Amino acid sequence: MLQMLVKGIVFRLEGELPSEAKFLLMDFRLAVNNAVRAGLQARVTSRNALVKLAYKDFRQEHLRIYSQHLVCAFEVAGSVLKNYRRRISRGNAVRVPYVRRLLMKAENQAYKLDRGNGIIDLPIRAKCHVNLKLVLSDYHRGYLDDPSYTLGSLTVLPDRVIVAFRKEAPTPYVPESALSLDTNERSLDGVFAMGGEVKAVKAEFPEVAVIQQRHHDRRKRLQRKKAHDRRTSRGLCRREGAREHHRIEYRLHQVANSVLAFAENQRSAIMLEDLKGFRPRWNKELNRRLSLWPRRELHRIIEYKAQWRGIPVVKVDPGYSSRTCPICGRLHDSRMGTEFECECGWHLDRHINASMNLLQTAISKGVAGGLRFNPGAFQHDVMMTLYEPAMAARSEPNGTSCIHGEVASVVTTRSSNRTI
Ligand SMILES: [Zn+2]
Repeated sequence: MLQMLVKGIVFRLEGELPSEAKFLLMDFRLAVNNAVRAGLQARVTSRNALVKLAYKDFRQEHLRIYSQHLVCAFEVAGSVLKNYRRRISRGNAVRVPYVRRLLMKAENQAYKLDRGNGIIDLPIRAKCHVNLKLVLSDYHRGYLDDPSYTLGSLTVLPDRVIVAFRKEAPTPYVPESALSLDTNERSLDGVFAMGGEVKAVKAEFPEVAVIQQRHHDRRKRLQRKKAHDRRTSRGLCRREGAREHHRIEYRLHQVANSVLAFAENQRSAIMLEDLKGFRPRWNKELNRRLSLWPRRELHRIIEYKAQWRGIPVVKVDPGYSSRTCPICGRLHDSRMGTEFECECGWHLDRHINASMNLLQTAISKGVAGGLRFNPGAFQHDVMMTLYEPAMAARSEPNGTSCIHGEVASVVTTRSSNRTI
């Protein structure tokens, strides 16, 4: 089973985008929008159908564009149309799509990248090429110098380019331990099981919920203040949304990096609950439904990074994981408080208990390799911290590094927060 993984790497440009390239971006946008219109009229969405439908006319209208770019514009138009159709079928009110952003895409045969000096040779039309000089850091060099990466498509934006790097998915290692995590609003809580020992682990990200709340309030205020001007209100809210997105995304990447570094170090398989079909409950204190997006996003980030690094991840149907006793198997009918308690005498933090059930499900289904797990061996007095906000504060200066070295600090529950 050969699977190709793709990762888009952002490069800044040395100097301004040459004016020929700027015109190319505008032409490309025009071609995309024309193709969208043609596709809407003829009710087609696939790239090939669009090519068949409109290529000849387009070739005459867009004389200035290199033909490979034109085919790519059809592809972008195709995905715009698919998105539009999907939103209509969901019953959302949507406007006829129109691309405003300046952007162009080129397939890997339509440009050349010199991986030694980082210069992109981008054809504009016959006998006219421009060179784009990329700013190279060590991070970027790592991708350019590694021959196991092949080049995919190129996306050109007014101030940066995105190069897709492709590689074969590495075969995940055979796990020697398990890291089972229950995903909550403010933390990942779970157990680490290895060689008969079971310890509690925690990765906390309380700021994510705080950021969400703050931006929610801000949006509400903006809507009230700009109630007379819906266009401004919408624009401001959109900008707020993008900021919120970036801030949360940054934290989630940090959390994912430390979880993955720990798993890789211990040769663990990671178990996560499958959030498909899961509906968030109404939160009484906030008086609204909590967004599930950060939790889904965290899973997405963990999964793709794990795949990239060859760390096995198992998605488990959560079933009755929060209501089952891992010792005697009794199913309790209602949700409890913060503590799970059972008639058999078992009691444990509700979230950690849920993660134990995830691990048991994974093992009973045979998806966890030959791992063994004994919930009775749980050590109640040990808590391992995979991530806490203080770690981000320490690593913030250069922004790009993940937290090597201080991956797991063992904290005993009694001496709260004292790291050993
Ligand atoms: Zn029990």
